[in-house]
Amino acid sequence: MFAKIPFLIPLLFPKQLWAVANTDKKIYLSFDDGPIPEITEWVLDLLDFYQIKATFFCIGDNIEKHPEIFRKIIAAQHQIGNHTQHHINGWKTETSKYIEEVLLCTKKIEKHTKASQHLFRPPYGKIKTSQAKVLLKKNYKIVMWTVLSKDYDAKTSPEQCLQNVVKHTRSGSIILFHDSWKASQNLKHALPKAIEYLLKEGYQFELL
Ligand SMILES: [Zn+2]
Repeated sequence: MFAKIPFLIPLLFPKQLWAVANTDKKIYLSFDDGPIPEITEWVLDLLDFYQIKATFFCIGDNIEKHPEIFRKIIAAQHQIGNHTQHHINGWKTETSKYIEEVLLCTKKIEKHTKASQHLFRPPYGKIKTSQAKVLLKKNYKIVMWTVLSKDYDAKTSPEQCLQNVVKHTRSGSIILFHDSWKASQNLKHALPKAIEYLLKEGYQFELL
């Protein structure tokens, strides 16, 4: 997977959101795979310190296991997105089953909050055209990313993870980190430094 999405991919999948067109230094921070204890809370504390809002694409199963942490994300007025009930791979899943997984996750989300818009990010970025079609019809907004920190990747060093973000972020970029144990070492190094750098460069963190 590329740290920066090659320009051709958004042209191939124009109905999915790869960046938000603007030239005035607005950027969009997003976190996938939570909510979980400690790591999600660490992210929330950091965002609170810098007074930054972000979008959390949550796994339904994790919302069920850690409702109190999910409520902390909502209480801090961050944005919530859907990341399926069990983090499934769209390419390996029948369309009807995939839609069921998304709807189930929406149910878990709506137990705690009324989502103003149905943001959805496919796990692994893998979604079939047939699945995307159904979700778009149901008014889901499919959100991909522009800049991948690769925080989850064991072969990516903490410093490389930081560089992935610092080097590739531009106005309109959607930046992807993970509030997961797997990503935590890279995340804890890269996220505070990336935020410091981007603020100094004049970027503003916005919600999708
Ligand atoms: Zn994920």
